[in-house]
Amino acid sequence: MSAERAKLVQDHVLAREEREPARAPVADPGDPPQTALPKVPREPRGDDRRVANRRAQSKSAIAANWRRMTVAFGLGGAATGLVAAVLPGPLEIALWLASTAIAAATPLAVRIEERNPASVQLTIALIMAWVGVPMLAFGLMVGHWTELNPAAPWDATIGVPIIVSGIAALVLNRKVPSMFAAMLGLWAGIAVLAGSLTTWLVLAAGAIAAVYASIRQINEEAIADERRAERLRAQARAQDILKDYEQTGQGWFWETDRRGMVTYVSPTVGKALGCRTRQLLGGAFIDLFNLSAEGSMSERTLNFHLSARSSFSELAVRAASQHEERWWSINGRPVFDNFNNFIGFRGSGTDLTAKRQSEEHASRLAHYDSLTGLANRFQMAQTLEKILTAQRLEHRSCAVYLLDLDRFKQVNDTLGHPAGDALLKQVAERLEGTVGKHGRVGRLGGDEFQVILPGKIERETLAMLAQSVISGLSEPYLIEGHRVTIGVSIGIALSPDDGVSAEALIRNADLALYAAKDGGRGRYHFYASDLHTDAEERRLLEQDLRDAVSSGALELHYQPIVHTVTERIAGFEALLRWNHPTLGPISPGKFIPIAEDAGMIAQIGEWALRRACTDLARWPESVRVAVNVSPLQFANPALPAIVTNAIAQAQINPARLELEITESVFLNNDEGTEAMFVALKRVGVRLALDDFGTGYSSLGYLKKAPFDKIKIDQSFVRGATQDGSRNGALIASIVNLAEALGMETTAEGVETLDELDLVRMLGCSHIQGYIYHKPMTGEAVMQQLAQGLTLDAIGPRSARASRQTMLRKVKLEHGGQNYHGTIRNISATGAMVEGLWNVPKGTIFQIDFGEGQIVTATARWCQEDRLGVEFASMLPLDASGRIALLSPLAGQRPASVLRKAG
Ligand code: C2E
Ligand code: CA
Ligand code: CA
Repeated sequence: MSAERAKLVQDHVLAREEREPARAPVADPGDPPQTALPKVPREPRGDDRRVANRRAQSKSAIAANWRRMTVAFGLGGAATGLVAAVLPGPLEIALWLASTAIAAATPLAVRIEERNPASVQLTIALIMAWVGVPMLAFGLMVGHWTELNPAAPWDATIGVPIIVSGIAALVLNRKVPSMFAAMLGLWAGIAVLAGSLTTWLVLAAGAIAAVYASIRQINEEAIADERRAERLRAQARAQDILKDYEQTGQGWFWETDRRGMVTYVSPTVGKALGCRTRQLLGGAFIDLFNLSAEGSMSERTLNFHLSARSSFSELAVRAASQHEERWWSINGRPVFDNFNNFIGFRGSGTDLTAKRQSEEHASRLAHYDSLTGLANRFQMAQTLEKILTAQRLEHRSCAVYLLDLDRFKQVNDTLGHPAGDALLKQVAERLEGTVGKHGRVGRLGGDEFQVILPGKIERETLAMLAQSVISGLSEPYLIEGHRVTIGVSIGIALSPDDGVSAEALIRNADLALYAAKDGGRGRYHFYASDLHTDAEERRLLEQDLRDAVSSGALELHYQPIVHTVTERIAGFEALLRWNHPTLGPISPGKFIPIAEDAGMIAQIGEWALRRACTDLARWPESVRVAVNVSPLQFANPALPAIVTNAIAQAQINPARLELEITESVFLNNDEGTEAMFVALKRVGVRLALDDFGTGYSSLGYLKKAPFDKIKIDQSFVRGATQDGSRNGALIASIVNLAEALGMETTAEGVETLDELDLVRMLGCSHIQGYIYHKPMTGEAVMQQLAQGLTLDAIGPRSARASRQTMLRKVKLEHGGQNYHGTIRNISATGAMVEGLWNVPKGTIFQIDFGEGQIVTATARWCQEDRLGVEFASMLPLDASGRIALLSPLAGQRPASVLRKAG
């Protein structure tokens, strides 16, 4: 292991073990707890080895230094000779040499002791032999030598053993038993010569004290040794653990000097940064990280802590590596020396990459829709919020599309959830493809999607984009081998025009979406302020409808269906009627969708069916009744049973009952639909395909399903008589196909004699329309039938009043503001108004024709000060085919037309 790490390790552990009380950095009050900083054990290095040697020395009873006493003995002998002023005799020389020789042989004693570390007796013997004996010999030598010259001053020569014993004490440094042995040996030598009893007594007392002290010392040292060994074992263990920690890459350590330069860093870091760890030393600590990657947040935090010299923990930083994205969590604390001087930072780091990746994954889950991969509701809300709270006002403009798939539920219900999921995925792909880089697409849940388009975008552009989204999503899908077609409705709101807060904008887009659905689905609608009232009106209507259903206020009216050739009544279509207590008659076109949305259609539909059957029972056998069946009823597997029951109760022939079904039931072209057809045919009722030609018509349906009749929608009939219209050709081909398949055809909505002539010519077998009769009550039907089955065609010759040019001042109200305009021309469906500039498409106006006659109209185009509007409902025509409300008697129009005037 490197020297740097050893130093770090030493600082960490020895600091604790040996200098702990001296240094406890003054912690900031706000400092995080410092548990994260690991305690690193030390590893021996140069200095330590010396320390270890010293320790080993102090542990042995014989000091290796004892050899040095040869010098002290030599010089001591010379000094004695000088002071005594006499040459030594053979005894003195022998004693002198013996003491010096034994001291010189000290390494031998050390070796003997090392070989037998546990033996106390040996130690004592060695101490006696190597320390006690030479000192005794030296003491005897000094005594004898001094005595050789009776004139020699004792008081001077005594100084020699005193000095030598002092040197011995120095050399034996803290080795108490040896020290005692040395002193006692020396004094024993002198005592032998002096020979007095007192001397021997003192020497004996000293010896006892020495033995006691020595035993104590040896015991204490043994305990201390044991402790030291334990400590070293603990250090080694900690060191192994930390080595593992570093090597397995789980974590790493770092240290800086007071300037923030790296003085140690684990090899892991070098590896992560793709360089040698050595190269990182001396560089700035913060250069190990790519701090700007994470925004300035952690950069500021780290710089703050480093300059404030405060601890930090679990700071997420990105490694400054080019080749991969790696994240670390780092901890650090300032380090102070014994004098409380700041000497740098020290800490550790752990790898966060995996954790962060899993967090990112979790956040992806939290921010993205797992099915489609689009942004989810939460993420979309954040995106919108970000735009609407942008610093600069001009960056806050945006538009929001709310999308709701039409008929998605049916696909889900009939083909199953996996198919529904597959469909949603395809929808998401198409939607993203169409919107492209113009905006952000998200799925809010279920079949609701949202698009946020940042920036100021013209309404025309928004309308165009919405239209291409609708066409794109309305193309057929191939789901698990089934061809599926759905539609989409879009509500559009713009900021700042329609709201500056996310909440207002979304609520308004939602209202616009509602209006789009209300307007017949498959279309887009811009938000307009009067939608609020529409939504409220709808909510109230739903409530009133519930009351009407429970109080039996709904009625069934019947409109004759006439045989083209014989002009005799073939049957009646049952049509719901609701006379609202305050609002007057409300069109089923308006309340049926409400009933469908509010889950009331099953109940209403069943009532209509039973009612029609009971009424039919009183009519002539040749007359049939046709009842409309909502797609929601058709999806209910109990329908055949309900129908059977109604027929049985009324005791009618099932073939006299015709069920009118719209094409939308084919959208989920599956076994459920086919099974329903089979079941209904088994009951014996007739089936009619209603509203043929609107929406998703495919002649393919006709070949598959067992229809008895096709009802050609009135929109075909309406245009057919106009020049250049292709409707006539279309009707002809439908009729041909129907004849080939053995089906009848009913032309709906025939109002004029021209239309009647045309559909007769085109070969429709039946006709239904005001030209013969409007829907009538059950009693009126009885009266009619009593008069016979033949009906006369009565009505205007031509289709409608052509455009009338005029100059008429009107008031237009929008969003509480009044504008003045001039009508330049008008028809039953719309008008051209002059005098209003740059009106956005989709703006809804209340046009006041005077005398309380108010008509709702929507802006369809605007060029400079010219504005084209379309009326919410067709204006009634008078007998002469002119627009009634412009005639002098206009004040007496029926309330239903002008209900908006409210
Ligand atoms: P629909 O099934 O297409 O019914 C024909 C509609 O055309 C009826 O409108 C009828 O009054 C109208 N009509 C007939 N002849 C003419 C004409 O010459 N000129 C004009 N302008 N209109 C004509 P209505 O009664 O308002 O019903 C609207 C729709 O409401 C129906 O369209 C049908 O889809 C739905 N509906 C009515 N009753 C029921 C019902 O009992 N159950 C269900 N599910 N839907 C119903
Ligand atoms: Ca119908
Ligand atoms: Ca119809």
